[in-house]
Amino acid sequence: MNNHREILSVRNVRCGFDKQQEELLVLDGVNVSLREGEIVGLLGRSGSGKSTLLRIIAGLIRPTGGEVDYCGTPVDGPAKGVAMVFQTFALFPWLTVLENVEAGLEALGIPADERRRRALAAIDLIGLDGFENAYPRELSGGMRQRVGFARALVVDPTLLLMDEPFSALDVLTAETLRTDLLDLWTDGKLPIKSVLIVTHNIEEAVFMCDRIVLLSSKPGRLIAEIKVPFPHPRNRLDPAFRQLVD
Ligand code: ADP
Ligand code: MG
Repeated sequence: MNNHREILSVRNVRCGFDKQQEELLVLDGVNVSLREGEIVGLLGRSGSGKSTLLRIIAGLIRPTGGEVDYCGTPVDGPAKGVAMVFQTFALFPWLTVLENVEAGLEALGIPADERRRRALAAIDLIGLDGFENAYPRELSGGMRQRVGFARALVVDPTLLLMDEPFSALDVLTAETLRTDLLDLWTDGKLPIKSVLIVTHNIEEAVFMCDRIVLLSSKPGRLIAEIKVPFPHPRNRLDPAFRQLVD
């Protein structure tokens, strides 16, 4: 694993926000890197700056200091090859499933017929076949998050950032979606090379991740790094339990 190519390098990242003349320092010298093939969990209390760090990595906001390299190139604006999945799905309610997934490709200037073909493939992959023309309001939470995943996967991302992707779902739905995603990952059916996942659920982190990093509050600094033991718990899934939740 350690000889694998570095996908992401976050070095000494600092980030503050203006708050009534004062700077609220949210991240103060964060260092983290992700290698090809890794799923890394990011844990920390609410307000510790996890979402801010994800937005910085995605190039949606600029840090006050430090550097972020994605595949060896400095991140300077929304990075191609990085996709994000959000806790509350962030779907367009006025668009169908197919249109929501296609929307992920529009900014990339991809022709309409190719957009359609790729969107249908992503929908099929994530288990939404037959729901192409449904609207988000007609879907359960789990299905909505599947749309969120399809919209992220359709851009063929190298790095997937997930911000508490299962925390709005009931436990069984979360378990099914998590397991489906890990199956696709293990079977090599995802274009993704690395995943960074924010979660409050320690069991989920141990189940999904190769490594867990912990962000302290006030201001955010990485204070611990935990390596999940081998053989990995996700390879020890009990088939009987799998059948129960599927
Ligand atoms: P987490 O995801 O770990 O809960 P966030 O990254 O959302 O934490 O927020 C960290 C801190 O930064 C919070 O105190 C939040 O209020 C503040 N913050 C986040 N975004 C902004 C912003 N755009 N402007 C001002 N303050 C912000
Ligand atoms: Mg957050």
